[in-house]
Amino acid sequence: MKTYDYLVIGGGSGGIASANRAGMYGAKVLLIEGNELGGTCVNVGCVPKKVMWQASSMLEMIHRDAASYGIHASVESFNFSELVKKREAYIEFLHGAYQRGLDSNKVEVVKGYAKFKDQHILEVNGELYTAPNILIATGGKPSVMKIPGGELALDSNDFFALTEQPKKVVMLGAGYIAAELAGVMHGMGIEVHWAYRKERPLRSFDKMLTDNLVEMSKEAGLYLYANSVAKKIVKEADGQVSVYFENGKKLTADKVFFAGGRVPNTSQLGLENTAIKQSEQGFIEVDKFQNTSAEGVYAIGDVIGKIDLTPVAIAAGRRLSERLFNGKTEEYLDYNLVPTVVFTHPPIATIGLTEEEALAQYGEKQIKVYRSRFTPMYFALNDYRQKCEMKLVCLGEDEKIIGLHGIGIGVDEMLQGFAVAIKMGATKKDFDQTVAIHPTGSEEFVTMR
Ligand SMILES: Cc1cc2nc3c(=O)[nH]c(=O)nc-3n(C[C@H](O)[C@H](O)[C@H](O)COP(=O)(O)OP(=O)(O)OC[C@H]3O[C@@H](n4cnc5c(N)ncnc54)[C@H](O)[C@@H]3O)c2cc1C
Repeated sequence: MKTYDYLVIGGGSGGIASANRAGMYGAKVLLIEGNELGGTCVNVGCVPKKVMWQASSMLEMIHRDAASYGIHASVESFNFSELVKKREAYIEFLHGAYQRGLDSNKVEVVKGYAKFKDQHILEVNGELYTAPNILIATGGKPSVMKIPGGELALDSNDFFALTEQPKKVVMLGAGYIAAELAGVMHGMGIEVHWAYRKERPLRSFDKMLTDNLVEMSKEAGLYLYANSVAKKIVKEADGQVSVYFENGKKLTADKVFFAGGRVPNTSQLGLENTAIKQSEQGFIEVDKFQNTSAEGVYAIGDVIGKIDLTPVAIAAGRRLSERLFNGKTEEYLDYNLVPTVVFTHPPIATIGLTEEEALAQYGEKQIKVYRSRFTPMYFALNDYRQKCEMKLVCLGEDEKIIGLHGIGIGVDEMLQGFAVAIKMGATKKDFDQTVAIHPTGSEEFVTMR
C-alpha cells in the first residue's frame, strides 16, 4: 500500500486546485483522475461552451449588426467542423498546462477510477493507497431523461462531441445549460425549438432577467414553448427524432437535446464502505469546512450540489488545503454572494437575492428596487434595438445592495467588479458616489434613480 499526506479523487476544477495548493506547502499529494485532466469545465463545460458562444456571437454580429455600421460583410462559409477541431486542440493544450502545473507542485497523478475500500484506503487499478486526508472532488454528470425514448435525447457532453452542425434541434430543459446551448446553436444558424416544463426558464433567477431573455430570444427567431412537458421521444423512419408533449404538441428535428439537471458522480465510489452521508439525490453532505461525516474525508465542488460553478470548486479546494496544510485552521469558503454569468444571447449577470427572494425574506417595507431599461449604444445605429435591463435590490434605510441583476450586451464583463463592491457591503449611496464611465452600459448601475 502506498502512503500519502493527501489523496485527491477527481482532477477537475476543484481537485486540481486543492492538490496544487497542498503540493505548494510541501504535502505529498496523489491526484486520481479517471478521465482527462481538467474535468467538466475544461473538457465538456465552461471552456468549450465559451468558445462556441464566442463563435456564435461573432456570427450574430456579422449577420445582424455589421451593416448598421456601414460594414456590408457576409459570411462566406462557417465551418463548424473546423471550429470544433480548433476548440479541441486548445483543450489539448490546456491538458498539458494542467499537467505542468501539477508537476511544478510535485503532485503525482494516477490515471484510473478510485473506490473506497475503507474510510482511509482507496483502490485504483488494483493498487491500494492511503492517507490521513482524502478529498472527494468527483463532480457530476448530466441526468438522463426518464421517459420512453429518453435515451434518444442527447446531453451537453454529446453537444460537444458533435463534429457536424445539425440543421434543426429541439432543446428540452429550463436551466442555464439549456438556455446557453439553445442560444449558441441559434447564433450558428441552427433552427432551435426550446421547450420547458413550467411558464418560464431559469426560474431561480430574477423574473426581470427571464422575462427579457424570453422576449429577446423570440425576437431573435428562436421558437420557445412554455408549459411543455415531454412524454415520449421517438426515432422516425427518416432518422429524425420526434418529441411528444403532454399538451398534445409534437416537435421533430435532426437532434433532440435534454439539459435537465446534473447528478453527482458518487455511485461508483464505494461510499458504502465509509461513514459518509449523502442527500437523497446522492450529493455528499459537508459542513462549512467541507468536512464529510467521515473524519479526514472532505468533499468540494459539484459533488456536494451547492453551487455548481468552477470558481466555487476552486475556491473551496484552495481554502481546504490552506486549512489542512498551511495552519489556517479557520479557513472556509463563504457561499454567499457568489456572482454568476449565463452566456445567453445577450448574457445575464447576477449576484445576490432576486427581488422576489428579498421581498419574501425582508418584507416590502425593507426593500427598495431600482431599475433601468435602455438601448445600449452598440445598437444606436441599428434598426434592431436590443434592450439592456438592470436592477439593484437594496435593503433597509442605508440601502445596502443585496442583489444586482442585468441582462444585455456586455453585462458578462461588468459583473466581477460590482461583485467586489457588493461583497464588501456597498450601499446605493456608495454606487451613487462613484463617478460613471461614459459611454458604457455599466454606468447605468451607478446612475439609477
Ligand atoms: C455545459 C456546461 C457549462 C458550464 N459552464 C460553466 C461556466 O461558464 N462557468 C462556471 O463557472 N461553471 C460552468 N460549468 C460548471 C463547471 O464545469 C463545474 O461546476 C466544475 O467543473 C465543477 O468542478 P468539480 O471539480 O467539482 O468537478 P469536475 O470538474 O466535474 O471534475 C470531476 C472529475 O472527477 C473525475 N472522477 C469522477 N469520479 C472519479 C473517480 N471515482 N475516480 C477518479 N476520478 C473521478 C471526473 O472524470 C472529472 O474529471 C458548466 C458545466 C457544464 C456541464
